[in-house]
Amino acid sequence: MSSQTFTESVEENHTKAIERAAADTTFGHWIDGRTVAPSSGRQFETIDPAVAQPISDVARGDAEDVDRAVSAARSAFREHWRQMTPADRAGIIREWMDRIREYADELALLESLDTGKPLAYARDEVLDAIEYFEYYVSVARAHEGSHLPQGEDNHVYIRNEPYGVAGQILPWNYPIDLFAWKAGAALAAGNTVVCKPSEEAPLSITRAAQLSEDILPDGVLNVVNGYGTEAGTPLTDHEDVDKLSFTGSVPVGKQVMETAADHVTPVTLELGGKSPFVVFPDADIEQAAETSAAGIFYNTGQSCDACSRILVHEDVHEEFVDAFTEAAADWEPGDPLVDGTTMGPLTFRNQYDKVSKYVGVGRDEGAEQVYGEGVPDREDGEGFFVGPIVFDQVDNQMRIAQEEIFGPVQCLITFENYDEAIELANDVEYGLAAGVATRDASLAHRAAADIQAGSVWINEYHGGGPGIPFGGYKASGIGRECAKETLAEYTHTKAVNLSLDEPSF
Ligand code: NAD
Repeated sequence: MSSQTFTESVEENHTKAIERAAADTTFGHWIDGRTVAPSSGRQFETIDPAVAQPISDVARGDAEDVDRAVSAARSAFREHWRQMTPADRAGIIREWMDRIREYADELALLESLDTGKPLAYARDEVLDAIEYFEYYVSVARAHEGSHLPQGEDNHVYIRNEPYGVAGQILPWNYPIDLFAWKAGAALAAGNTVVCKPSEEAPLSITRAAQLSEDILPDGVLNVVNGYGTEAGTPLTDHEDVDKLSFTGSVPVGKQVMETAADHVTPVTLELGGKSPFVVFPDADIEQAAETSAAGIFYNTGQSCDACSRILVHEDVHEEFVDAFTEAAADWEPGDPLVDGTTMGPLTFRNQYDKVSKYVGVGRDEGAEQVYGEGVPDREDGEGFFVGPIVFDQVDNQMRIAQEEIFGPVQCLITFENYDEAIELANDVEYGLAAGVATRDASLAHRAAADIQAGSVWINEYHGGGPGIPFGGYKASGIGRECAKETLAEYTHTKAVNLSLDEPSF
């Protein structure tokens, strides 16, 4: 298909899909169980990156809207949510999930249009989100307290109490999935929520909140849309928010932590990555190439845990470069709404400009581009499409190896021995994830122990799911999501000490 025919066909598909998905929905805030207009009356546009055209107006929130949402969340916490049993809360959330399941196609289409990810992947992610909510409520029901033996005269036990209002700030790369990671845990543990989705992809979360109408008690879940400094900062700086959870970039994560420090608000941070995939000389090269290609190119390289550096042993370097460039060919960009598309456009213009800048940096630094045409010049009205780009002969000190590009750009780095592989793997500020390819079980476990990362995948990549903790070492963050221990991040531990009197008769 010529580039002009492709652009025309994408435009035709998307004009119809935008009409179908967004025309009848108002994307306001969701506060106290209803759609609420922004107090300033201002809106912003969210853009479909496949056609660089607006999808819908969205409420542009500010401190006043955040105040309303926090106050609704506080009342809902006091009046009902914290008093319910985990079983009652589970019943309500399951009912909401049943409704989300019914609307999965609509939510997937909104998310695909908003982010540019292939529709089939967006649908899988909506179903994943349901699983996370269901997982958390099951774990909360199975949660048990403890009794601490302190002798005959003392009775000491532990209560786990919800914090109260949880403020949650989200990025744009996996909106509904990450919403489930955070809101699912907070709600199941008995907290109420004020969520601030990313301004780059707010539609699916806003719609999911609307679908809670008449199921979740009013005020239990609130969504305030808007920009980071206008709607995000007031949430992090709010004295009536008891717990904060943020997923996004390292610089903003640091600001969130600093602001939260003023109120000594506990913070969970899920931040960026520059994750290594280590190919040892005995690896199944074809499998390693396919796995690590999916590890970087899924979601057009816009995954926090993307393996954006491949460390490959010098003996298998040539064979690996051939296999990897062959695997990259399965990830050519296409219309996200068309079946079989594996890679959509980058999610917004800044992403496109950023990836373009880094491709220039890589070339200037002397890396050898062995695959991909680079970032094409866009005409007005064309989407932010970029195909896979592979750099070989990368030195780990280059900027393209140290900085998070967040696009479909792979860096191949060669090593000579085990110690060098581990040193290179750990020689970045991040520590989110890592992959290891080897047939040697002992080597795999040794590397898994030596690499500083919250997740290590052996002969696979991007594995995870409900029950498997996810989070980072070093600058990649603080805390773990998706697992049993996440509930502890949303509860205070209280030790109750009771002195037992002697029986009086
Ligand atoms: P970002 O930091 O620019 O924005 C994240 C969110 O913070 C958005 O909702 C934004 O509006 C808000 N925000 C911006 N400035 C703020 C401020 N001063 N105060 C409060 N809120 C503010 O990140 P992004 O571009 O949306 O997301 C990409 C980043 O997220 C990447 O670094 C990626 O690695 C990371 N990420 C991490 C994980 C993880 O689980 N570790 C998952 C997904 C994405």
